[in-house]
Amino acid sequence: MADKPLVAVTGASSGIGEAVAKAFSAAGHPVLMMARRLDRMEALDLPDSMARKVDVRDRAAIAAAVKEAEAKYGPVDMMFANAGIARLADIGRQPPEEWDEMIDINTKGMLNTVHAVMSGMMERRRGTLFMMSSIAGRKVYPDHTVYCGTKFFVHAISESLRDYLSDYDVRVIVLSPGVIETEVLSGVLDPTTLANYKANKARMGGGIGPEHVANLMLHAYQMPQNALVQEIVITPTRQK
Ligand code: NDP
Repeated sequence: MADKPLVAVTGASSGIGEAVAKAFSAAGHPVLMMARRLDRMEALDLPDSMARKVDVRDRAAIAAAVKEAEAKYGPVDMMFANAGIARLADIGRQPPEEWDEMIDINTKGMLNTVHAVMSGMMERRRGTLFMMSSIAGRKVYPDHTVYCGTKFFVHAISESLRDYLSDYDVRVIVLSPGVIETEVLSGVLDPTTLANYKANKARMGGGIGPEHVANLMLHAYQMPQNALVQEIVITPTRQK
């Protein structure tokens, strides 16, 4: 049985979330993994882990998974609110259903995730919330309009939460990656936007491996509780 505190990750079935689940598990933490593809999380076969089929739009499902994992492993000390999709597109051509889905997952889903653990962290006066934004939450791109909106939202709520939770010694850390090698492009349904993205990525010589993001997060988490890395910004060197 692991002697380190429980950590939780949404979007643990692939990409950055999967890398973070593996890194924290390797560091000795029990891990609660949440996403819709249960088979992918179970296939990771991490020790002291629990995988639950959770859609982050379902507030009750996240709360239930957290409650179940906490009953087994103790309180969640780190939550990575990571689940998200990138329906990148020219807003003039994008069907509204695409942005409805993305807004619900990337913004309300994130709030649902934070809500499931925040009061417990406040009571215990410790905890770390990692909030997945993007470089597109710091600057805008013309064919990322609504995606940028969702990620600027993450920055805004994170900065407000950081102020609010600092008096409770709870840390809020924003992640702002540039191009990372994951399955994120499977969410881009517009062929022109996808082709432009791929061309730009090739110009950069490809994206960064998600394990590098995970290692930075582990380092930030392992800092003393009174030391806060407020934001992690990592991009390919050639990314503009
Ligand atoms: P992936 O597509 O590999 O991972 C996305 C994860 O989110 C999957 O595990 C997916 O699981 C999960 N997810 C999506 N929708 C839901 C939902 N409704 N409920 C629960 N889980 C969901 O891409 P990344 O790892 O790249 O993406 C992770 C985050 O990183 C996203 O928020 C993305 O915006 C952000 N990001 C990515 C960058 C990149 O270049 N890759 C750059 C900057 C930010 P499942 O489908 O099984 O539910």
